[in-house]
Amino acid sequence: MQIEINNLGYTYMEGTPMEKTAIAHISMTINEGEFICVIGHTGSGKSTFIQHINGLLTPTEGDVLVDGINTKEKKSVLDVRKKVGLVFQYPEYQLFEETVAKDIAFGCKNLGYDEEKQKECVKNAMETVGLDYEKFKDVSPFDLSGGQKRRVAIAGVIAMGPEAVILDEPTSGLDQQSAMEILGMIKDMNGKGKTIIMVTHDMDYVYKYASRAIVISGGRLLFNGTPREVFSNAKELMGIGLDV
Ligand code: ADP
Repeated sequence: MQIEINNLGYTYMEGTPMEKTAIAHISMTINEGEFICVIGHTGSGKSTFIQHINGLLTPTEGDVLVDGINTKEKKSVLDVRKKVGLVFQYPEYQLFEETVAKDIAFGCKNLGYDEEKQKECVKNAMETVGLDYEKFKDVSPFDLSGGQKRRVAIAGVIAMGPEAVILDEPTSGLDQQSAMEILGMIKDMNGKGKTIIMVTHDMDYVYKYASRAIVISGGRLLFNGTPREVFSNAKELMGIGLDV
């Protein structure tokens, strides 16, 4: 599956006195199986950008094509969401069901999967994130540790079977050990063929895990290449406040 981004731009509250162009003229292709890290200063437009890749936001300029489907086609919203999952920053804040299994099943239920299929998806997703199904399925998500909660939240997205997964700062707020476990899990998913798009401010992660790094600055795509290529622009990167 390929994701095509053509001259993407997005303006918040377009046509009002408060309008604000968050991103502009972004073009790139995301190929199957890539591990892309998105880096940039706070307010540079990273979050606005990634929300376009699963159709949560639709472009005010240009187009995003997910496996050939234009995210502007309203009737295809669910198809796009099925193909591309989005894990927000601190996703555990959105946990709300009584049990881990119910919480993870929530998205699958919305996709209209029957009970049997939901259970299968939940089991597989829990295996992927390293949570034992029998041990955790009936536990309240609120009784879990921070790292475990995050796994449950990520499992909820994975359960829907996306071919690409976007993660916004997936290790923020976690201790070093939990962070490394979460990253290992993301790396494994990538190893099994899932495309990963990860926002991070940690340049070590970019070096260690990314096949490609993109830098967003002032809403524009400033650099797009291998981590080595991108980091060779140390002066420019430091100029926009990134610590290389
Ligand atoms: P980042 O994720 O890199 O911190 P964002 O995509 O959140 O950047 O923000 C890019 C720009 O868009 C910022 O100037 C921000 O203030 C603005 N912005 C983000 N969300 C909204 C919104 N809901 N309404 C208006 N402006 C917004």
